[in-house]
Amino acid sequence: MAKIVMKNIKKRYKNSDSLTVKDFNLSIDHKEFIVLVGPSGCGKSTTLRMIAGLEDISEGDLLIEEKRMNDVAPKNRDIAMVFQNYALYPHMTVYDNMAFALKIKKMNKSEIDLRVKEAAKILGLEEYLKRKPKALSGGQRQRVALGRAMVRNPKVFLMDEPLSNLDAKLRSHMRAEISKLHRKLGATTIYVTHDQTEAMTMASRIVIMKDGIIQQIGTPKEVYDRPVNRFVAGFIGSPS
Ligand code: ADP
Ligand code: MG
Repeated sequence: MAKIVMKNIKKRYKNSDSLTVKDFNLSIDHKEFIVLVGPSGCGKSTTLRMIAGLEDISEGDLLIEEKRMNDVAPKNRDIAMVFQNYALYPHMTVYDNMAFALKIKKMNKSEIDLRVKEAAKILGLEEYLKRKPKALSGGQRQRVALGRAMVRNPKVFLMDEPLSNLDAKLRSHMRAEISKLHRKLGATTIYVTHDQTEAMTMASRIVIMKDGIIQQIGTPKEVYDRPVNRFVAGFIGSPS
């Protein structure tokens, strides 16, 4: 039984006369770390937003643990999404940013405290809990964004280019941190990037997309050694 099944998923935006996602088919197992790659505008964010429920699915089926999710409200999908721009609340402390979603759920204070402190420990944020986001570095802010998703203990993590605002050195550091976090928590993850290095180093499987169509699905080694076409070879950097 796969954890997430996407069957013949299509997306047509209201104001558009062509399909943005043309026919997306993918089964994701428990604990996988899927990296979805492809050039800008190929439909990666649209795909993630459909899974999160932030965009309607025009056609096809989205199943999570065998339950059809197409019409389930985002807050009931048990999915946490991390964005490129962090979207932290500037007026709140790190602690309150991380606790916010749990407070809304009316979770009791001691359970919130436990979860926030546990996440802060894992992410190395224990000393920063009383700070506001503006008093943090880019990498620390991105960690708070991860922590905010983690405390919800979601079934599924979606990350949309979470590192693309960081400089190269920090990106490489955070890449390792996110992989470590995934090994520790084991949550099923779909990670979007246009960075080949992230794809090759982080993925259990890579999905390569172009113009709304999946070109190839495989382990980093499979797509590198046996790219199905020139586009994949060029994108992954396989020798030709
Ligand atoms: P990616 O994340 O791979 O860069 P997106 O999923 O953001 O690609 O966008 C795919 C295509 O869909 C682009 O051509 C984009 O302009 C278009 N698009 C994205 N959002 C909307 C929208 N809300 N309405 C209409 N078209 C959109
Ligand atoms: Mg995008």
